[in-house]
Amino acid sequence: MNSDSAPPIDFSTLARADLVDDGGRALDALLLVTGDVAHGVAEAVRQNYAVMPAGGLTSAIGSFDYDADSTAAFAGVVAIRPRGAAEAELVDGTVPVEALKSHQVSIDAVKGMVAAGAGLTFAQVNAALAAAVGDDARVLIDLTSIGSAYVGGVVATGGMGPLRLRPSATLEGAVLADGGAPRLLTGSDLDLVEGMQGWTGMVTAALFRFYRVPPNEFGLVLPVQGTDIDALAGLLSSLEPWTRVNLPGAGGRLGNGETVLNGIELVSRDSLDSFVAHAADPARSKAQGLLQSCEYAGADMLACVTGWSEQSVDDVLFSLMDPETETIGGVMIEFGVGFSSGTEMEIFHAIREGAPDLARTRARVRPEGRLKPWTTSTDINVQAPADSGAIATILSAYSDYRDAIRALAGELKGAVDVDLSAYGHLSPHGIDPHHRVTLFADAGQEAALAGARQAVAACKRALIRDLLHAAEHEGISVTGGEKGIPSLVEIARAGGGFARLPDALKTRFERARAAIAAAPANFTFRAPADLREG
Ligand SMILES: Cc1cc2nc3c(=O)[nH]c(=O)nc-3n(C[C@H](O)[C@H](O)[C@H](O)COP(=O)(O)OP(=O)(O)OC[C@H]3O[C@@H](n4cnc5c(N)ncnc54)[C@H](O)[C@@H]3O)c2cc1C
Repeated sequence: MNSDSAPPIDFSTLARADLVDDGGRALDALLLVTGDVAHGVAEAVRQNYAVMPAGGLTSAIGSFDYDADSTAAFAGVVAIRPRGAAEAELVDGTVPVEALKSHQVSIDAVKGMVAAGAGLTFAQVNAALAAAVGDDARVLIDLTSIGSAYVGGVVATGGMGPLRLRPSATLEGAVLADGGAPRLLTGSDLDLVEGMQGWTGMVTAALFRFYRVPPNEFGLVLPVQGTDIDALAGLLSSLEPWTRVNLPGAGGRLGNGETVLNGIELVSRDSLDSFVAHAADPARSKAQGLLQSCEYAGADMLACVTGWSEQSVDDVLFSLMDPETETIGGVMIEFGVGFSSGTEMEIFHAIREGAPDLARTRARVRPEGRLKPWTTSTDINVQAPADSGAIATILSAYSDYRDAIRALAGELKGAVDVDLSAYGHLSPHGIDPHHRVTLFADAGQEAALAGARQAVAACKRALIRDLLHAAEHEGISVTGGEKGIPSLVEIARAGGGFARLPDALKTRFERARAAIAAAPANFTFRAPADLREG
C-alpha cells in the first residue's frame, strides 16, 4: 500500500491554505496537497492535527466553517486536498482501489466498474471511460459541476444533478481513511461517508458501476407560466415515465426504451435576462431567442428537458407529444426550441448552467459602498409519483414561498434589496427547484439586513414545513437534499426537530449521529451540534 513506505510529513513546514470555497469563505488551515491521501491523513492524525478534507471547493454552503473552540485540543487544522492532474492516469486493474493515487483510475470493462482517485473530476473519469470503453460509457454522476468538483468531494456531499441519483445509487464502494489503514466501505456502510462532508474521515477513492447510454443527446426547452401550476404539473406528470432510470447491471445499456430523460430543469426568465446581459455569443444570441419564446408564450419560466435517445430530437418530440392536443401534458410545444448533440448541446448547457451560476456569483460579490450580500438557497428533494395533483401540491408550496419573498421585498423596499432567482430540478424523482434569495443593503444598514435575514429564514422554514406536510399525503416523499447531512439537519430544524422527520430520514439522521460518535475527533469538529450531542 502507498502509505507504508511513505516518509513522515513535517506539518510545521506547510503553508497556510490560500483557498476560499465557492462562497468566498477562506479555509482557515494549513494546506497539504497530496497524491497519497491516506498517508497524509494518517500522519495528520498521528501528529494530532484536525483534518479538513478539501476537494474542488465548489460547495457554497459554509461547509468549511468551524468553531475555533472545537479545535483547541489539536496542534492545528490541516486542509488535505487530493492532488489532481490534467487527465486521469489509467492504471492496471490489479491495483487495489485502496491503493489508488488521487489522480488514477482503473477500469474493468467486463465487470462494468471504474475506480477513481479522489482528486479527479467526473468529467475526467468519463473521458477515461470514453478512451478505454467507448463514447457511450459513463458514470451516472451528473452534477452540473462535474468539470470542477472532485470525486471525493461529490461522494462526501452526496450531491445529485438533474438525474436526481445520489452517488450511492451507482457506487459500489468508497475508500475511507481516518488515521489507520484505508478501508473499502460497501453496502449500507457507504452511509458512513456519503453526505457526511468529511466529518468521519477522508474519501481517497471510489468504485462506481458505469453504464452505456443511447448515442444522441438532446435538449428541449419549453416556455411555461410559473403561475400556471396545473400546466407545469401536467407536463411533469406526463414526462415522469420517461424519467425513470431502471438501472441495468453494471456496464449495461441504460434505458426504458429508445429514450431516457435525464433531466427536467427550471430556468426562470429573470435569470435568463441577466444571462443575456453578461454572456458572450453564441450562447447569448441563443438565450435571446429563448427570451423571445417566453415573450410569445407569455411565460416566465423555461422547462429544460434533456435526455439520451436512439432517435433524433424531432422524433423524440413527436413521441413525447400528444398528437391530438399538440401539447406535452397540456403545455403547448409551439414555442419550444430543440437542441441536438455536439455544439448545440454545449450552448444549451452554457445557458442552463450559466443562469444559476450568475445568481451564485452575484451573491458573492460585495457591491461598492454596500454590505456583503447575504444569500440562501432552498434544497429539499421531494419525490412524486406521476400524478399531477401530487406534483401541483409541491409546486404550490414553492409558489407560496415566492409570494412571501416578493411581499417581503415590498415591505423592505428602500432599506434592503431582495433578489430572488429560481433554477434547478423538476424531475418528479427529485423536485428540488432551488430558490436563491440574496439580500443587499447599504453600509450602515446592518440591523435592517439582520432583520431581513431572519424574515427570509422564517419563510424558508415555512416552505420546508409545507413540503413535509405534503409528504404525509399523496405518495410524496421528502428524501433530504443534495447537500447530504447538512440539508437533513436544516429540514429537521425547520420541521420541529429530529423526532418529526419522516421515518427514512430519521434513520439516516440516527446513522449519521452514530457514525460521528464513532469517528476520530480529528474529523468531527465541523459537524453540527445537533449530530454531536447524544
Ligand atoms: C457551477 C456549480 C454547479 C453545481 N451543481 C451542483 C449540482 O448539480 N448538484 C449538487 O449537488 N451540487 C452542485 N454544486 C455544488 C458542489 O459542486 C457539490 O456540492 C460538490 O459535490 C462539491 O464537490 P467539491 O469537490 O467541490 O467539494 P468541496 O467543496 O471541496 O467540499 C465539500 C465538502 O466535502 C468535504 N470533502 C471534500 N473532499 C473530501 C474527501 N476527499 N473526503 C471527505 N470529505 C471531503 C469538504 O470537507 C466539504 O465539507 C454546484 C456548484 C457549482 C459551483
